[in-house]
Amino acid sequence: MEKERLEHFRKILQGQLREHSEHVRAGQAAATADTDDGVKDSVDMSLQDVNREIAFRMGERESQLVADIDQALLRIDEGTYGICARCGKPIDERRLEAMPTARYDAACQAAIEAAQGLDTPTL
Ligand SMILES: [Zn+2]
Repeated sequence: MEKERLEHFRKILQGQLREHSEHVRAGQAAATADTDDGVKDSVDMSLQDVNREIAFRMGERESQLVADIDQALLRIDEGTYGICARCGKPIDERRLEAMPTARYDAACQAAIEAAQGLDTPTL
């Protein structure tokens, strides 16, 4: 991939990294927030548990996104960005525009998902 294109994707990824890092921090803060505000009602208590659980799961998802973005930035540095990790062919740039962290081209992604038996494409 041309250097200018790589820098274009690097900027997108760095922007996403900043954004999602903030989400992770916010999620962690919510998950660990002191929710003991004196309300001892059991319904409210379980609602708090649910909220904490949601915050925790969102934090996990965001952490995974941050890891994916990190790896994509690493691939830019290594010069392997935009190359399918499975077949070695260049990934369509329109696909990278839609999902800058893509590790596989569309054909390989579909094949991997089919092999895993997933019925919901994660792109
Ligand atoms: Zn491929």
